[in-house]
Amino acid sequence: MRLVMLGPPGAGKGTQARMLQERLGVPQIASGDLLRAAVQDRTQLGIEAKRYMDRGALVPDDLVLKLIEERLRKPDATAGFILDGFPRTREQAEALAAMYKRNGALDRVIALNVPDEEIIKRISGRRTCRNCGAMYHLVFDPPMNQNHCNQCNGELYQREDDSEDTVRMRLQVYAAATRPLLEYYERQGLLVQVDGIGRPEEVSARILKQLGVDALNSAKARTKA
Ligand code: ADP
Ligand code: ADP
Ligand code: ZN
Repeated sequence: MRLVMLGPPGAGKGTQARMLQERLGVPQIASGDLLRAAVQDRTQLGIEAKRYMDRGALVPDDLVLKLIEERLRKPDATAGFILDGFPRTREQAEALAAMYKRNGALDRVIALNVPDEEIIKRISGRRTCRNCGAMYHLVFDPPMNQNHCNQCNGELYQREDDSEDTVRMRLQVYAAATRPLLEYYERQGLLVQVDGIGRPEEVSARILKQLGVDALNSAKARTKA
């Protein structure tokens, strides 16, 4: 099954993609995580990307595509994937479609709808484990031990680009560059809009219901073809 999670920054794409990967047995692939790993490793790509990420701008398509294409070529992605945070531009969407031209590109694109005021709350409380990447929220999903991960006791940190000013910039970038993809995928009959308000489990149940047997069947049909 090949899925894309679309939605504004902080909408819960990562949270939902992680829950889905367990249910569907295909990996979550997050462009933001790949980029942050490159920044951490101080690769040339990472050093270049950081300049854009720090101000909440999009990293140029060629850099992002290089990382994503490399990741999608790994064996665990042959059975499918849940793309989280990619594509974010029309160019990226077209490049993705071109990669899978031979056997049909995507099964579904899930758009998470969350209003801006909720986005700001979610992002300002977001904390991530430095060690295992687990996600928390200071109010909605607080760690048991202040500032430490429930799973591995790693240190929790706040992303630098989650500051209020940068978030505002990221919301503008989303509206200008990424939101038009909703229409793009709608025209292809792939778009599923899901209400992103409520507990993560409730949102996840909505997504699974929308995917239903339907999407599973289309994935099977494709393998047969
Ligand atoms: P969010 O919480 O906003 O969804 P991400 O972790 O997906 O954040 O992305 C963080 C930053 O990484 C973005 O603001 C952008 O600079 C860069 N980035 C991530 N994915 C992409 C992409 N597909 N295209 C361009 N830039 C990206
Ligand atoms: P995205 O990947 O879209 O940027 P995340 O999955 O990182 O979003 O979620 C942003 C923050 O909101 C995290 O701190 C997460 O714990 C929290 N969060 C995610 N889903 C929900 C939800 N349904 N209700 C409340 N908080 C949520
Ligand atoms: Zn951890």
